[in-house]
Amino acid sequence: MKKLIIFLFSFLFACNTSSYNAAYNDYYKYQQKYIEALLDNNKKAEILALKELIKCGKFLNFDTSNYEKKLKNLTPKNNIYSKYIKIHSLNPLKLTLPKNYKINHFIIKKNGYKEIFDIKNAITPKFITKKINNITLKIAQFNKNTVRIVFYAQKRFNLNYKISNNKLIAKITNKNPIKKANFLPINTSKKIIVIDPGHGGKDAGGIGLWGKKEKVAVLSIAKKTASILRKKGYIVYLTRTGDYFIPLKKRTHFANQKKADLFISIHCNIAPRHIKTPNGLEIYYLSPTRSERAIRVAKLENKEIKGLNYIDQRVILKFLNKDRIIDSHKLGIDIKNSILKNVRKKGFYLKDGGVRPAPFWVLVGTQMPSILIETGYLTNPRDAKNLFNPLFQWQMAKGIAEGIDNYFRKNP
Ligand SMILES: [Zn+2]
Repeated sequence: MKKLIIFLFSFLFACNTSSYNAAYNDYYKYQQKYIEALLDNNKKAEILALKELIKCGKFLNFDTSNYEKKLKNLTPKNNIYSKYIKIHSLNPLKLTLPKNYKINHFIIKKNGYKEIFDIKNAITPKFITKKINNITLKIAQFNKNTVRIVFYAQKRFNLNYKISNNKLIAKITNKNPIKKANFLPINTSKKIIVIDPGHGGKDAGGIGLWGKKEKVAVLSIAKKTASILRKKGYIVYLTRTGDYFIPLKKRTHFANQKKADLFISIHCNIAPRHIKTPNGLEIYYLSPTRSERAIRVAKLENKEIKGLNYIDQRVILKFLNKDRIIDSHKLGIDIKNSILKNVRKKGFYLKDGGVRPAPFWVLVGTQMPSILIETGYLTNPRDAKNLFNPLFQWQMAKGIAEGIDNYFRKNP
């Protein structure tokens, strides 16, 4: 219902070209609407979204030729949708296959046990990762024409499947009992964490009360966090260990190169003078509204989807990111809760500013769950004092580390 209301709401209003900002926001909004329409196979919505997208794009001087082409091609002849598989349920897995499908089933016993179904001449409307007890089910677009379905586990399992009349039904028959998440030990030695102290060198970041510099506080907190995490057995890398400048792009690149499991960027907030002393902890994860630049960056990092056309790539990127966005959000919540618990335990006051989506550049382009922590406001007297107090910094660091533990306990 909520989805429907949002959907209707967004189409009641056309692209707002009253200001650059409004058009900019609407451009990305209609981009999302367009992708949703594509996935819902809703041509009417697709045409509507494209029209507004082109209107906004033209106002912003963006290159809209691709969208114009797509709008022109929206004729009834276009039968790409007949290739879509329909997913009815996941446990048991029930699918309706497209007309001219070919299916190939095989088992791989390297690094665990995988049962794979490759469905040729097919497109999946959704990318799915689901844990069914100890078995992971993944449905994804393997290449332009092939949907790959993988059942994966460390140990062998039994899968019964049946293919008839364009239907595939697959059911896992031996179930391993689920262990209670909270009692699972974490294998920290295999987890790689990149901690990113914001700013550095010529970029001081925010400058708060008494001339306190963000780059200094965040480096102290980051180093303390790293030392706690290392004691717990994690492999930890810092994007900088001293007072020098690193461009944003290099920070995320570094995390990707290190094949990090998590990327955590640490910052302090600054409030403009006319706003009355806001304070507290705020955590951000990358918002699902992705900009042109974000998509370009992500495209470079996702070379396996090169063979797909422009629009397909966007659809795939949206789903690749969707899982990561959900994970980042979960990570943000775990870290927020344990930071608040740890700093308050020692009598510090820290306001809970929540976990929110935002398009931070530093989080764009990372391939792992990523969050940005605004540890407090340097323009607020209490926060500013705390942020330079070593005890507070240690509690903050402990909180971040415990939050990471909690996250991995639930998402091993
Ligand atoms: Zn910052």
